[in-house]
Amino acid sequence: MDFGLWTDMFADLHLHTNFSDGTYTPEELASQAARQQLAAIALTDHDTVEGCERAANACKALEIEFISGAELTAEHNENEIHILGYFLDTQNQTLLSEISKFQAVRQKRIYEMVARLNELNVPLRSEDVFALANCRSPGRPHVARALVKAGLCGSLDEAFERFLKKHRPAWVPKAKISALVAIELIHQANGLAVMAHPGLNRSDEVIPELVESGLDGIECFHTKHSTAISEHYLEIADKFNLLVTGGSDCHGMSKGKPLIGTVKVPYQHVQKLKSRAAEIKSSAAAPRA
Ligand SMILES: [Zn+2]
Ligand SMILES: [Zn+2]
Repeated sequence: MDFGLWTDMFADLHLHTNFSDGTYTPEELASQAARQQLAAIALTDHDTVEGCERAANACKALEIEFISGAELTAEHNENEIHILGYFLDTQNQTLLSEISKFQAVRQKRIYEMVARLNELNVPLRSEDVFALANCRSPGRPHVARALVKAGLCGSLDEAFERFLKKHRPAWVPKAKISALVAIELIHQANGLAVMAHPGLNRSDEVIPELVESGLDGIECFHTKHSTAISEHYLEIADKFNLLVTGGSDCHGMSKGKPLIGTVKVPYQHVQKLKSRAAEIKSSAAAPRA
C-alpha cells in the first residue's frame, strides 16, 4: 500500500465533547479539528456514543473524516483500564443497552459523591451537578466544576485534591465492567477495541490477556505519555501485533489552549484501523466457524 500520499495528514483519535465531560459541543470540536487541519478525528466520549451523529455531520460539512467511538471504563484484575472502541455501530442495540447501564451507574455515583460532600458540610446539590453536566454520562469533572461554580472550591484542582481524587473523602469507587466484556461488547458492535493511555495505568501485565481476548490496538501516543513511554508501547504494539493509535484526550481548553491536535497520529494508522475494522465487519457478517 502506498502511504506516500498521506504523509502530511494527521488524526486525533481521542476526543471528548459535552456528551460526557468535555466542554466542546460536537460542532465546536469539529471546527477546532478544522483549525488544526486534522484529516480525521474520532469521538471517544465516556460511556456514550450520543455525540457521534452530530460530530459526524459537522465533520462531513468540513470535509474531515469522522470515526465514531467511545471510551469505556473497565477493569481487569482490579486495575482500572479504559477501552476505546472505534468504528462502532452507534445503533447497535446491545451496545446501547449496556451503555445505558453504565450511565445509570455514573448517575448513582454522582448522588453518592454529593452525599459524602454534604456529610463534610459542603452544601453541593446533586441537581446542580446534573444541570451543569447536562448529559447522560456525568462524572467527577462535573462535580468538580459544580463545586467551583457554587463557590465551594477555588479551582478544579482544589476540588480534586480536597475531595474527589481517589481515596479523598468524597471519592466513591466506580463499579466497572470487565475489560474482557468491554472488548466483546465493542466487537459485537463491529468496533475495534483499543487499550487507552496504558502509560497512565501502568498495568502492562494485563496486556497479554487482553490480547488473548481480542484486543485490537493500543494507544501509544497520548498527552500524558512521554516520548520514552510512547516508544515503550510502540514496542509492545509490535510484539503483540497490535494497531497503534493516539490522541490528545482533549476535554476542551487546557492551560488556555485547545488540546485537540496537540497529539496526533499520521494518517497511515487510520488506514490500518480501517482495514482491520472492515475485516471484523466482514467476519461478523459471515457465520463463525
Ligand atoms: Zn481515559
Ligand atoms: Zn479520554
